[in-house]
Amino acid sequence: MDCVFCRIARKEIPSTLLHDDPDVVAFEDIHPRAKVHVLVVPKRHLATANELGAGDEPLAGRLLVVASEIAKRRRIDSDGYRLIVNCNRHGGQEVLHLHLHLLGGEPLGAMISKRPV
Ligand code: AMP
Ligand code: ZN
Repeated sequence: MDCVFCRIARKEIPSTLLHDDPDVVAFEDIHPRAKVHVLVVPKRHLATANELGAGDEPLAGRLLVVASEIAKRRRIDSDGYRLIVNCNRHGGQEVLHLHLHLLGGEPLGAMISKRPV
């Protein structure tokens, strides 16, 4: 796939890689919205959370486990953090390759703020 996150997973585009295993990569978001802003991404191209199906439970769980490991490594686990998956237009998804945002390092405010979509 000629998709930016597929290309990052294949190391064709540089990123600040924080995690790399057979199924999942994680790297710093290029436009961080918080002091810690990491993207946790399956290597397999799934456009959105809608593409997760039966059999993808291990992958979906792996994304959460990797996010939790990185949160501990970055020492934001006890103060806390937020995990976000945006989906399609109402979710404000910009990159159509499933990804989990790990945000923290400072108070994050309200869970959502309404903005035009
Ligand atoms: P979303 O709106 O959920 O699709 O989020 C996409 C995220 O990907 C945004 O926070 C972008 O800043 C981030 N992003 C886009 N291109 C890159 C890139 N080449 N490297 C790292 N992060 C990126
Ligand atoms: Zn992709």
